[in-house]
Amino acid sequence: MTHVITSLCLRDGGCMTVCPVECIVPGKPIDKYPWYYIDPDTCIDCGACVAECPFEAIFPEDEVPSAYKAKGGERLSMPVGTPGFTEIYDGKNHNGEPVHLEATRTLQAGEVVDLTPDIAANAAFFKDGPGYDALK
Ligand code: SF4
Ligand code: SF4
Repeated sequence: MTHVITSLCLRDGGCMTVCPVECIVPGKPIDKYPWYYIDPDTCIDCGACVAECPFEAIFPEDEVPSAYKAKGGERLSMPVGTPGFTEIYDGKNHNGEPVHLEATRTLQAGEVVDLTPDIAANAAFFKDGPGYDALK
């Protein structure tokens, strides 16, 4: 199994600093890979990253919610061009550096979203995308 970063990720980067096996990488290019990603072949499921994420974006793979009920105000982030993701996010990461995301959407309180498609998106980053090159 592995842990998975979902579309709740706003590139804070804190998770990457605590991973004991250094298997978390920032997606690049950001417009195509807007989250951080966990290498499923290296993750040892220690869970250390979960507590570091200010957006509660990380789950064990078998606990990624299919019906995530929003508190309200959370943002989902997607590749640029994803329909419905029209809000620009400008924030700061855990080092105080600027984070700029072009395609986000703010959730309303009580809104229910399926985050399980994000599992495949994480795997695809390593299988078809730049994942392993990014780890080098
Ligand atoms: S700490 Fe959370 S928001 Fe930040 S990069 Fe990791 S998963 Fe994304
Ligand atoms: S669960 Fe542990 S090994 Fe896996 S990505 Fe998180 S910190 Fe790294």
